[in-house]
Amino acid sequence: MSQRIPVGVLGATGMVGQHFVKFLANHPWFRITFVGASDRSAGKKYNEATSWRLAGAMPEDVANLTVSECKPAGAPQIVFSAMDASVATEIEQDFAKNGHTVLSNSRNHRMEADVPLLVPEINAEHLSILPVQKKNRGWSGQIVTNPNCSTIVLTMALAPFQQFGITRSVITTMQAISGAGYPGVASMDITANVIPYIGGEEEKMEMETHKIMGGCDGASFTNHPMKLSATCNRVPVVDGHLVSVSVELSSKPSADEVRAAIESFTALPQQLKLPSAPPRPVIYLPQQDRPQPRRDVERENGMAVFVGRLRACPVFDWKFLCLGHNTVRGAAGASVLNAELMKAQGLV
Ligand code: NAP
Repeated sequence: MSQRIPVGVLGATGMVGQHFVKFLANHPWFRITFVGASDRSAGKKYNEATSWRLAGAMPEDVANLTVSECKPAGAPQIVFSAMDASVATEIEQDFAKNGHTVLSNSRNHRMEADVPLLVPEINAEHLSILPVQKKNRGWSGQIVTNPNCSTIVLTMALAPFQQFGITRSVITTMQAISGAGYPGVASMDITANVIPYIGGEEEKMEMETHKIMGGCDGASFTNHPMKLSATCNRVPVVDGHLVSVSVELSSKPSADEVRAAIESFTALPQQLKLPSAPPRPVIYLPQQDRPQPRRDVERENGMAVFVGRLRACPVFDWKFLCLGHNTVRGAAGASVLNAELMKAQGLV
């Protein structure tokens, strides 16, 4: 692409917003020209309005942008949304109404009947609902969402099992503190401890997985019929959600067949060579003590999901662990990959 496409980030001063700014630095297709936040930040330079909390320096070209209020006038056609959930519904809709494509991290629109909850490796065909969304709502623009950070790790790891017919799954998460934003969980609560509760997370994982792994015929979505039970824990890890999964399958593949399915798994983003798509979206680690957040989460630019410890399950058929970067593949990187797919398909 000879000229990079201007894009905006709504909620650019927050934690996920900063991940967008970092992830999009030097992106081959997109260039941030607009940073939006609340009226507390609007009018300030991005580097004055933002307490930069990520490793490495704030990208210089964004540091000098003036923060705008999150209003559509003057914003580029493509905007990534990382706004506080309490304000995202109306603002995202306002942008879509005014012709913008909104790629949202917020939970607000994920489960709506005409909004894609997109994981390009799994359900690219869900984008076929967009004409229905535009017609229903009378929008010239559109909203596309990406899943909760733990759901995306789980669904990517389950994707290679789809061919064997997933009937039931029981999962337990060990979720990093960065998933709670900044300042997140109090240090007195999480240091040398595990908190066996993340409000709303189990319900989100169950509902979102059914939608993502289900079908879309261009008129409506159908949920995947699997039974899924999730238990979610916050653990003292900085980045990387680790998920323990047991899965029951309708066909009965051998261990070699399951390993082969994981290791050969690729999808549309890889075929299209999208810039943020990892060459292998799901990577099997054969070592008996992997994947580990500290050792594996930054690999593949944070965009792959790592699977390990595949073994027979005495209750269901197979059990394994999977790991993904919650603020990259689970947030900013996921939205950017969604935008890349839409660009490649002529939808933006
Ligand atoms: P955050 O750090 O609190 O950032 C919130 C952002 O929203 C800030 O830029 C803030 O701007 C902006 N904002 C607040 N009120 C606003 C208003 N009235 N108008 C416009 N902008 C406003 O939150 P976060 O952790 O980055 O999370 C952002 C969103 O992503 C949430 O919906 C969250 O559920 C979702 N999410 C988070 C994660 C994660 O790992 N943390 C993962 C996936 C999804 P000011 O700086 O001006 O206040």
